[in-house]
Amino acid sequence: MAEAGSFAEKVKQQADIVRVVGEYVRLKKSGQSFTGLCPFHAEKSPSFAVHPTKQIYHCFGCGVGGDVFKFVMEMEKCAFPEAIRIVAEKCGISIPRPKERSPEERKENQQRSVLVEMHREAQTFYVKQLEGTLEGKAARAYLEDRGMDKDAIARFGIGYAPSGGDALLRSFKSKYSEKLLVESGLVSRDQSGGRLFDRFRRRITFPISNESGKVVAFGARALGDDMPKYLNSPETPIYLKSNVLYHMDRAKEGIRRQEYAILVEGYMDAIAVARAGISNVVASCGTSLAEPQIKLLGRFTRRVIVNYDPDAAGQAATERSLSLLLEQDFEVRVLALPPAGNKKADPDLFIREKGAEEYLKLLKEAPPYVDYLIARARQMDLTTGEGKLRAVNFLLPYVQKIPNGILRSEWATRIAQQLRLDEPVLRAALGKAAKERRSEVKTKPELVGRAAKPVERRLIRMLAEAEGFRKELAQHLQNARLYNGLETEKILAALVIASLSGQPLEATEVASVLEERDRRLLFEIMFEEANEPTWEEAMSCIEALQHRQAERELADVQRSIEANPPGTELRGLLEKKQELMRRLAAAR
Ligand SMILES: [Zn+2]
Repeated sequence: MAEAGSFAEKVKQQADIVRVVGEYVRLKKSGQSFTGLCPFHAEKSPSFAVHPTKQIYHCFGCGVGGDVFKFVMEMEKCAFPEAIRIVAEKCGISIPRPKERSPEERKENQQRSVLVEMHREAQTFYVKQLEGTLEGKAARAYLEDRGMDKDAIARFGIGYAPSGGDALLRSFKSKYSEKLLVESGLVSRDQSGGRLFDRFRRRITFPISNESGKVVAFGARALGDDMPKYLNSPETPIYLKSNVLYHMDRAKEGIRRQEYAILVEGYMDAIAVARAGISNVVASCGTSLAEPQIKLLGRFTRRVIVNYDPDAAGQAATERSLSLLLEQDFEVRVLALPPAGNKKADPDLFIREKGAEEYLKLLKEAPPYVDYLIARARQMDLTTGEGKLRAVNFLLPYVQKIPNGILRSEWATRIAQQLRLDEPVLRAALGKAAKERRSEVKTKPELVGRAAKPVERRLIRMLAEAEGFRKELAQHLQNARLYNGLETEKILAALVIASLSGQPLEATEVASVLEERDRRLLFEIMFEEANEPTWEEAMSCIEALQHRQAERELADVQRSIEANPPGTELRGLLEKKQELMRRLAAAR
């Protein structure tokens, strides 16, 4: 995998596997290693372990394991080169530009950086318009009316796109080609394909940043009654809607700290919640959440509170998001805000009317999604059989999406109770839904818990770790072929070869030549808590193996003798037997 001197090797040396894995899995320190719930199989108690010094992970449940690259490849479903890039980025290691890039690739990269630069300039431009123009003054008044003070405006980079229609265009025209201007999405071309004009006019602008904090798009709200009320940047080479969550760049830390994220619909909502001191909030910026956005979120937490608008569109969006989140094994709660006054309240309005504290209180009480869904189902007409069937059919798809079988059947029971389903048919439908789903990865008993003898385990550990005498130990084992016939023969043989090479030993590289069950055993052993190895201990392990070897040989000789061979051969065997018995007696 990581060749000596390669960039991959450099990344591997510098990367911290605990930090990288920690972005996907909640890890707790446990002895010398860290443990958490395995992201590769469904489980309730942690059997997934990461070793900080050996830089490996291993699941004692389903048996997966490897190094930091393997983990990222499995998690992101990507290839090795992509995994190197991801790990390097996460660890702040700068990635060398590959020398031979195709001219197209080079051009695309250049274009992307120009587009990012254009957005940076546009951001500065819009902010200046809000601060220093008459029109901007009106926009500021509007913002103030919505409770947005100077600090908030500055904090969220809010700006203003003037009404003229070519203000930004004029400042860009001399620097960028028409093609680039249109590609940036900041400038549009009119229907006839001729004249260029600013995409955003007479609108308040909200910069949308990617995960690393670079402005890649804008959301813009009409100041007057212009339609649409909200207008966003189109998709561009630097902005794929489904890949970006608004406020993610600033929410990361909060999400990690709070161990959950709040998902809202629009940037105004995200801003309102963040201003209330709740920083772990992101907005999907659009009514439906896309799978890449969930993946992005999943790198920081698996717990989400969905707080969409209470209108019909928001409810539909909530339910769509729920499906997706459940499929990805998220723990989801739903906050449906009560009306503020007589208005249906989105988070922005609610916080303005009722205050941050009230919002936080409701947030803490937000019910699990199933309660939310049951409440929605109960709003249906449950007095008739058909009505109940409709309600069950509304709930079934969600029940089926829960990956965990126990939870699934718990919810089925609960739904039956809550909807007062006495009809056996409906109960059966729920029960069936609860069972039907790919079954969880089950621990394969033949693959775990192989009880290799303690001496073998200890030797494996020493060969992997004892920098000081690994080579000598390997030599001893090699000379007398002491590992022949042992259960751990292949592991020991691979370790001996690696140790004799004189190169620093990499557990994952040794593992790569082993069969799956041997790799698991090797990783299991690597995670055992153990004392510093000493040469004395190594020698006593060698002696133990010599003893076992002599015993095995003795048994062989005995069998041969009993087979009644011709006289000369028998004499040889009897001598051999004597010698072996002397050796065994001496060792006792
Ligand atoms: Zn597992």
